[in-house]
Amino acid sequence: MHRTLITLSWIALAGLGGIPAAFSAPAPAIKGPTTTQLPRTVRPTHYDVKIVPDARSMRFSGKVAIAIEVLQPTASITLNAVDLSFAKVVLTRAAKQAISVKYPAPKVQINDDEQTASFVFDRILTKGRYRLALDYDGKIGTQAVGLFAIDYVSATGPKRALYTQFENSDARRMIPSWDEPAFRTSFALEAIVPAGEMAVSNMPIAQQSDLGNGLTRVRFAQSPKMSTYLLFFGLGDFDRATLKVDGTELGVITKKGATAQAAFVLESSGAILREYNEYFDVGYPLPKLDNIAAPGSSQFFGAMENWGAIFTFEHAMLLDPSISTQSDKHRAFQIAAHEMAHQWFGNLVTMRWWDDIWLNEGFASWMEARTTRRLHPEWNTALAAVGKREEAMGLDGFKTTHPVVQHVETVEQASQAFDAITYSKGEAVIRMLEGYVGATAWRNGVRRYIKAHAYGNTESDDLWREIERSSGQPITAIAHEFTLQPGIPLIRVESAGCNSGQTTLHLTQAEFSKDQPDRKPLAWRVPVIVQALGAAASIRTLVTGGRASVSVPGCAPVVVNAGQSGYYRTLYAPENFRAIAGNFGALAPIDQLGLMSESWVLGLAGLQPVSDFLDLAVGIPVDADPQLWGKIAGVFEGINEYYRGEGARQAAFQKFAIARLTPVFARIGWTPRPGELDTVAILRNELIGVLSALGDTAVIDEARRRYAAQATDPAAVPASLRKAILAVVARHADVTTWDQLHAAALAEKTAMVRDQLYNLLASTQDEGLARRALELALTREPGETNSAAMLSHVAVLHPDLAFDFGIAHLAAVNQKVDATSRSRYFPRLASQSADPAMIVKLNAYAAENLAVGSGRDADTAVANIAYRIKVRHERLPVIDRWLTGGKG
Ligand SMILES: [Zn+2]
Repeated sequence: MHRTLITLSWIALAGLGGIPAAFSAPAPAIKGPTTTQLPRTVRPTHYDVKIVPDARSMRFSGKVAIAIEVLQPTASITLNAVDLSFAKVVLTRAAKQAISVKYPAPKVQINDDEQTASFVFDRILTKGRYRLALDYDGKIGTQAVGLFAIDYVSATGPKRALYTQFENSDARRMIPSWDEPAFRTSFALEAIVPAGEMAVSNMPIAQQSDLGNGLTRVRFAQSPKMSTYLLFFGLGDFDRATLKVDGTELGVITKKGATAQAAFVLESSGAILREYNEYFDVGYPLPKLDNIAAPGSSQFFGAMENWGAIFTFEHAMLLDPSISTQSDKHRAFQIAAHEMAHQWFGNLVTMRWWDDIWLNEGFASWMEARTTRRLHPEWNTALAAVGKREEAMGLDGFKTTHPVVQHVETVEQASQAFDAITYSKGEAVIRMLEGYVGATAWRNGVRRYIKAHAYGNTESDDLWREIERSSGQPITAIAHEFTLQPGIPLIRVESAGCNSGQTTLHLTQAEFSKDQPDRKPLAWRVPVIVQALGAAASIRTLVTGGRASVSVPGCAPVVVNAGQSGYYRTLYAPENFRAIAGNFGALAPIDQLGLMSESWVLGLAGLQPVSDFLDLAVGIPVDADPQLWGKIAGVFEGINEYYRGEGARQAAFQKFAIARLTPVFARIGWTPRPGELDTVAILRNELIGVLSALGDTAVIDEARRRYAAQATDPAAVPASLRKAILAVVARHADVTTWDQLHAAALAEKTAMVRDQLYNLLASTQDEGLARRALELALTREPGETNSAAMLSHVAVLHPDLAFDFGIAHLAAVNQKVDATSRSRYFPRLASQSADPAMIVKLNAYAAENLAVGSGRDADTAVANIAYRIKVRHERLPVIDRWLTGGKG
């Protein structure tokens, strides 16, 4: 699965949306589900499922016959079910002579909190094989959970398409089932659908028959043994394009007429499939692999790896020549690479329980980055690893963090596990361990792991065991320290100076914490790579027992965490930092980025002068790596947010930041140059966004001029700049401009563009217009899946306003948020606040609305707000002094 992220302004450009659905029932309160695991007395071995969806009434009927095995005598059978009503329950036992024994109808007990249905019999069922047949019906939802509908406008009028989303625990909304990853079974799915619509599932269609009444019966081939959360069903007015690669039929499925926009992903999928068939050394096991693009959005995810039927929201997959940018293209590739990696790592081999969800997500994230680097070296994405590490550490430095492997009890805890620790720390730890054992040994271990556990379920130690076997190195102990305990090692570096041509470094391990700086550090064995400036080779050491010394030939300054593959922070003694900073231009770009990123974070935390980052930023040449400038621009935008509401102080900072970034932007210019690097094209859009956020009138005026000129001069707003220009115009909109954008949204017929316009309406700096956006979000106009996204966009610049509005309309907002996101949605609205009152409000919200054990996202948001307040009090005065030449 790919997570939904809405962060700072220029990132908030991704299209998100849908059009009004007919009707949706009130959402249940969040309090409730405390689901633990099902009893192990009975297990399923096969499902025969028949579904008859009625998209118009937003209901479906179903019949399922489940082959089960009673493992211990029991009088009741308990499985998962949510919002299903049962019309008929029949249990039969296939006797040895093939005579069925039918049992009297059981009592049906529904437990809403546990999300289960129990069938209680008047006698004990003895061990053996049975068939449980259930007739039932259920609801089609308006948010991306269970079986759901997305409405959109097409050239031929309004359309409604159906899709499913079952991870983490929502197969139970469509099929009464043992809805836990460890219950792997085969599935045979059949559906009765309107003739002329395309039905798609994990497997190809095996049989199709016209029922003569405008309906078609579609039976899909039987699936291999798999977990319930990987099932998929989709239905609509679709087109499909295919490509045959290595004997597998690759397909992309879009709403009618849009397959050309999926051509890039289809072609990329071919290259990725070849890469993975080789890397895993086990061929892709299903006959086909589709990637289904859907309009709309979710607050929880962007794409989902259903086996043989990947689901991706259009905004994360389609390239629309009128609006898509280079970063959209990179993202579409990366997401396809991520979901395809899951076809092996996650689908063929699946974690036993959600405790180990990082095995899926950390690995797929790492594989996504690796594959992008290998297949698109010209994109130069290696430096992105630093950003991923920082994203993980942003969460991992608070006391509310958790280990990569964590105990999960409830459905909500499983949903909350899809966070930066699971994805990005998981990825960073894998990168570090791969670096430690070497890429070949790592790959061989992965191959052994996949072969040993194909069609099975695993825990993290199953992977470590195979890596140890293939590498001959005892990595389990290191892996445990980085995955079973939370937090970030801090390596303090001191140099004993240069003696007899050798530089000796003393490394001491502490712990980096943003809100518990004085706590006793945990202990890690930390693989550290050091490299002297200008040296050809690096030197590896393992910091064990809290300290290590390492000697490096020569007297040049030594970079610690050279290559930035280590998951730890590096705090140099001041003289060492100065020596490296003084030779900044001699560092590899990835180490430049690492040093900049860390000096900023360590500066915010008070561990080194916050002016170190600013001094570095002043010294960077305008022609430095575009990604370095992207980082500086991003930090400047962050500082500008810290200064929010600070009048003259903020203006002084803005003046400095604009002066620093303007020459860089001038060098790149507004007009894309033929053959320029993608990183330059991406930086152009970033700088437009950040300069606009900083209030740079030159950029704002030019964006407005181009926007106004587009009616007569199409070249004024080229596709690659369209999102960036619109974002500037929207951010600084007055009432007239906002009304213009609103009219454009109403008139727009392309779902992806339309969704984007609604999000832009929610991205204004003006508070009055932000209020209008909030009111608009809760009407039926933007569409069912756009509403929650609009509130999230308002919260980027107006967190307090968005949160208060959400609380004032709690029931209506909850109805617009997918169930999987409910416990994190409000905390995220609040988390960019710097108002102490928000902490009180958020805690009150959590106490009132979140179940015990589901409060982690709220606690994290509180920690984030408290830290923002601290930074404003303690660091901004230092920056003020630095700006006036006082050097902090
Ligand atoms: Zn994933």
